[in-house]
Amino acid sequence: MPRRTKIVATIGPASDSPDTLRAMIRAGMDMARVSLSHSSLDEAIATVARVRAAADAEGCVIGVLADLPGPKVRAAEFPEGGAHLAENAVVELVTDGTASNDTRIVVDYPMLLSEIEAGDTVALGDGAISLRITDVRAERAIAQVVTGGWAQGRPGVALPPGRLTVSSPTAEDLRLLAGLAEAAVDAVAISFVRGAGDMVRARNSLGSGGPMFVAKIETQEAVDDVDDIIAVSDAVMVARGDLGIRCALADVPHHQKRIIRTGVAYGRPVITATQMLESMVRAPTPTRAEVSDVANAVFDGTSALMLSGESAIGRHPVAAVATMAEIAERAEREFDYDTWGRTLGRQQTQDAADARPHARITAAVSAAAWRAASDAGVAAIIACTNSGATARAISRFRPTAPVLGCTPSPRTARQLTVAWGITPMVMEYQGTTDDIVWFAVERAAKEGLVQPGDLVAVLVGSPTDLEPVTDSLRLVRAR
Ligand code: PEP
Repeated sequence: MPRRTKIVATIGPASDSPDTLRAMIRAGMDMARVSLSHSSLDEAIATVARVRAAADAEGCVIGVLADLPGPKVRAAEFPEGGAHLAENAVVELVTDGTASNDTRIVVDYPMLLSEIEAGDTVALGDGAISLRITDVRAERAIAQVVTGGWAQGRPGVALPPGRLTVSSPTAEDLRLLAGLAEAAVDAVAISFVRGAGDMVRARNSLGSGGPMFVAKIETQEAVDDVDDIIAVSDAVMVARGDLGIRCALADVPHHQKRIIRTGVAYGRPVITATQMLESMVRAPTPTRAEVSDVANAVFDGTSALMLSGESAIGRHPVAAVATMAEIAERAEREFDYDTWGRTLGRQQTQDAADARPHARITAAVSAAAWRAASDAGVAAIIACTNSGATARAISRFRPTAPVLGCTPSPRTARQLTVAWGITPMVMEYQGTTDDIVWFAVERAAKEGLVQPGDLVAVLVGSPTDLEPVTDSLRLVRAR
């Protein structure tokens, strides 16, 4: 059985070449992430083209996720090699200038001085460096270094929760989003979401048929409103880096579990991100703690695991993907599929409570498919899907049988690369429900995914319905 937990790898200077991209695909990358915090729109679009060319060359379906910067405040560049901020040292924070150093930090947020006050704590980078503001004057703030460390590149500057008045998506995010939609990226991640309205604003800025919208949960406000945010999103990311700065660090694993459970209940893929194999930025092998972290995310039920610096700027991008794939595959062998499916089957999944009838029908039919697949012991489940929703709905039950997501849309196929356990397959189909069922089963047999005589569960919609909905489940024997 191939690996079911998907791998999202961030592309950066260490990996953005045709050979490395192809090697990462062979090692197990399912979706490539391009961060617009670290590249321009044109650079991101060029990376998307390189990922697509590498996927074609490898004969694989690979999705692309573009991650918008959001209202992230950053410090201007520190000198090459970084600057050491010593504990108890006094530094000033200013908003004018182009370079930071160990006594003067230039922050790219013009409202800074009106939004911080004496006594505030401000964190730099991943939160390892923290400063206490001691005085705020007209043109600068004075701060004392509480926890020292090396500041490198352009680290993020985290203000106290609730202080930043700029909301997500920013005007710049919407400009980038329009360009990314034109380049037909498969998914877009919205950073620093604080409520469901932020996701709705991003989606409404484009017409229908746009990318999947991924909500990054990285603020306390988002954690508090996670149900409503997930309800209006297509997927969700546990963005542990910023989450660990904006919430109590000890709460992060608990937020992770809750976000995963909620995403699964809504049938949305969940990506667990950040510092999963951090030591592999430099070292060829991970720490024991990182191996356990990756395996535990699989046990939590994550749909996908993400690499950030490990694949973007690390020394071993291909080995990081291969290592993550190996740990995930091993953990999947221990996963308690039966308890997972039965627990979810007993609960009412969120879409079963949805006011829209088509969502309730998909919920009921996908739950029936999972039960039939376990009771009848099918060799495979085939979800015929236009938008991908049917495949995601069955994926949440974590069936042990392989699941094929058959779709006429190449973009839907790429979007399914982040859904747990789904093998995406592009397939043109038309005709009656019966025609589609047999066509899908025959295609799966031709690809060697099912053998003659195998029992197969097929989920399919009625092609004549005005509102497309998956309303049929067939159990058939492959010929
Ligand atoms: C994170 O904060 O964990 C994250 C994934 O976001 P970014 O990499 O954009 O900081």
